[in-house]
Amino acid sequence: MTDNELSDLQIQHAKGIGPGRARLFGRLGIVTIKDSLYYLPYRYEDRCNIKNIRDVVCGRLETVRGRVLFSGVRPLGRRLKMFELTVSDETGSLKGKWFNQPFLKQNFSVGQEVVLSGFVKADAYPGGFQMENPEYELVAEDKDSFIHTNRIVPIYRLTEGISQKQFRKIMFGIVRDHTDGISDPLPVEIMERNNLRPLAEAIQQLHFPEDGTEISLLNSSESTYHARLAFDELFLLGLGMAVIRKNNRLRQGIAFPPEGMKLKAFKKMLPFELTNAQKSALDEILWDMGRPYPMHRLLQGDVGCGKTVVAFITMLHAVECGYQAVLMAPTEVLAEQHYSALQGIMNDLGVRSDLLAGGVKERRIDLIASGEIDIVVGTHALIQEGVTFRKLGLAVIDEQHKFGVMQKVLLRKKGANPDVLVMTATPIPRSLALSIYGDLDCSVIDEMPPGRQSIMTEVLSADQKTAIYGIMEAEVKKGRQVYAVYPAIEESDKSGLRAAVQGREAFQRIFPQLRMGLLHGGKRIAEREGIMASFKRGEIDVLVCTTVIEVGVDVPNATLMMVIHAERFGLAQLHQLRGRVGRGADMSRCLLIAYEPCSDEAKRRLDIMVRSNDGFRIAEEDLSIRGPGEFWGTRQSGMPDLKVADIIRDIGKLETAKKEAFNLLDSSPQLEEFPFLRRALEAFWQGKVDLYKTG
Ligand code: ADP
Ligand code: MG
Repeated sequence: MTDNELSDLQIQHAKGIGPGRARLFGRLGIVTIKDSLYYLPYRYEDRCNIKNIRDVVCGRLETVRGRVLFSGVRPLGRRLKMFELTVSDETGSLKGKWFNQPFLKQNFSVGQEVVLSGFVKADAYPGGFQMENPEYELVAEDKDSFIHTNRIVPIYRLTEGISQKQFRKIMFGIVRDHTDGISDPLPVEIMERNNLRPLAEAIQQLHFPEDGTEISLLNSSESTYHARLAFDELFLLGLGMAVIRKNNRLRQGIAFPPEGMKLKAFKKMLPFELTNAQKSALDEILWDMGRPYPMHRLLQGDVGCGKTVVAFITMLHAVECGYQAVLMAPTEVLAEQHYSALQGIMNDLGVRSDLLAGGVKERRIDLIASGEIDIVVGTHALIQEGVTFRKLGLAVIDEQHKFGVMQKVLLRKKGANPDVLVMTATPIPRSLALSIYGDLDCSVIDEMPPGRQSIMTEVLSADQKTAIYGIMEAEVKKGRQVYAVYPAIEESDKSGLRAAVQGREAFQRIFPQLRMGLLHGGKRIAEREGIMASFKRGEIDVLVCTTVIEVGVDVPNATLMMVIHAERFGLAQLHQLRGRVGRGADMSRCLLIAYEPCSDEAKRRLDIMVRSNDGFRIAEEDLSIRGPGEFWGTRQSGMPDLKVADIIRDIGKLETAKKEAFNLLDSSPQLEEFPFLRRALEAFWQGKVDLYKTG
C-alpha cells in the first residue's frame, strides 16, 4: 500500500468501522485512513507506571494490575445501578466502580487478570481505595496488546457517540495496519539536515508512544515527533509559496515606463506633501510596476497613514501608460468615498473615472469595456461576469482582508496579467509578513502624516451616562462631529443588544438641538450616499451607525468615536473604528462603552486599546489572542490550515523550512524526482490554490 492509496482509502475500510461509525468519524473531519493517521491526540496520560495497590495515593491518577476477586451489579436507589469489581494483587485490594453500566459485568470473570487506571479515592471502609469509572483492560498473553492501560495513553478529541476506549482501539488497529503504507515525502538530505524523524515513525509514536517517551514533551506538542509533522506543514507551506512565486515569474507582465507628466502634476495638486514613508512605498511600487512580471504587492500601514493617496498615484501612473486601473473596496460607503475623493482631481487631469457599486448600469459597463473610462472604483460589483475591461493594467484592492481569495483572483482575471496591489490596515511586522505572505512582496508605511495626535481612549461602563453625554456635548459645542457605532441595526429580544435605530432616538431625546444622522446597511445606497455626504459637509453632528463605517471612512472634522457594546468587538475592528477619528489636527477621543457581562478576554482587548494606538502592536496582540487561524480567517485567506505548527511560535522554523523549499525547487522545478512530495504538496494546498494548473 502506498501513501497515494492511503489517502484514497475510505475510513470504512478500517477494522471496526461500519457506516455509522464512518459518519461519526466524518464529524471529526476524518474521511480517509490517512486523515485518521493525522488525527492526533490532544493530550496523553501516563498509565505505564503500574503501582502496588498498597502504594497508591488518593487524588492521583494511578494504574494497578491484579486479579478479579469479585464482580457484581448493585442497585443504588430506584433507577441507578452500579457495577463493582474488586481487584487484588500481592499487596492489597481495590474497588473499581462504574455507574449505570451493568453490562460491563459480562467482560470480567473471577480470577481474570486486569489493569485499571483511574483517579484514586478513599473507599467507605477505612484504609480502602476505590476508582470511579476507571479505564480497564484485560491482560492478554502478549504485552504488546496493551492499548488503554500500562502505557502512555493517547486522549483524542471526540464527538458524541463514541468513547475514548472505542476510538482508541480503532486507532490502534489503524496505526498497526497502515503506518507501513505511509511513504515519506521529504527528501532524505532535508530530513538529515534538520534532524527529523521518519514520517511513519512519527505518526506511530504520536498515537501510541513507546514506554520511556517524555510525556511532558508530548503534552506540550514539543516532542521530536511533533517537530517532524510541524516541519512538514511549514515546508509544504514554504514550497507552495515558492511555486506560486515561480509561476508568477513565468508570466509575462506589463513593464510600465517611468513616471510621467500627469503624475508630477498630481503630486503638485495634493494639499499636502507625501510623508517619507509614503514616498518610499510609492518608489517601491513604481519600481515593481516597471518590471516585466505581474506585480503582486502588499501595502501595509496603520489606519490613517495615507495608503489611499499612494494607490491613487499608482492608478494614475497605469492610466498615463495607456492602461485602465481599478480599485475595489469592501463596502459601498468606502467605494463612494474613494470615488468622490478621486473624481475631482482626475477630471482636472483629463482622466475619466467612474463608480461601479451596487446596481450595475449597462451604459457604464459598455464604457468600461470600450476603454472610455480609465479608472473604475467599485465594490464586489466589479467582479461580476458582465464587467470587462479593454486594457486593465493595475488592480488595487483596499482592505484586502475583507475579501476572499477567489474574489481577488476574479478581479485579476479581468485583465491579462495586470499588476496587483493589495492594501491592509491590519499590519504585522515586516519579517512576519514576509514569512506569512510568502507569495507577496511587501511595502510598509510606518509613519503617520505630520500633526496627528494620538487618540485618547477610555473605557466607560454603560451606566456612566452623565459622563458620556457630557463628552458628546462638549465635542459638538466645539463644532466637531461624533460617530456612535452600534453592533446591530435594531434592538431585538433575541440579541439583547443596544442598536442604532433606538440609540439614535434616545440621543435625540436627550439632545433635541443636535442634528442626528442614521447610517446602516439596511438603507438604500442613494440614501447612504446622501447621509455620508452631508456628514462630510458638516451638516450632521452625530452619526449613529453600525460598522458600515468600519473601514476607510475619512472625515477629518470627526473627533469623537463612541463604540457602544465595545466588549462585543474584536481588536482589529475596534482599532479600525477608532481610526475614523484622529484624522485632523485636533485632539480626538475614543470612548469604548462596555456592557456587562464582559468576559476576561473582552477586558483584555479593551485594555490593549487603551494602552496602545499602534496598529502594528495591536495586530500582534490580536494574533496572539486569537491565533493565526482566526486572525487571517485561514479558510478564506488562501492560507492552508496548520494543525501542528504554530506560525508565531515556529516563525524561526518557518524560515528554515522556506529556505529548504526554495532551494529544492531550484534544483527540481517540477519536483519530478519527488512524486510523493508533489502529491503531498497538492493535497496540502487543495482548495486554496491550484499550484500546478496549466495556463
Ligand atoms: P488609510 O491608510 O487608513 O487608508 P487614508 O488614505 O484614508 O488612510 O488617509 C487618511 C487621511 O490622511 C486622509 O484624510 C488623507 O487625505 C490624509 N493624508 C494622507 N497622506 C497625507 C500626508 N502626507 N499629509 C497629510 N495628510 C495626509
Ligand atoms: Mg484606507
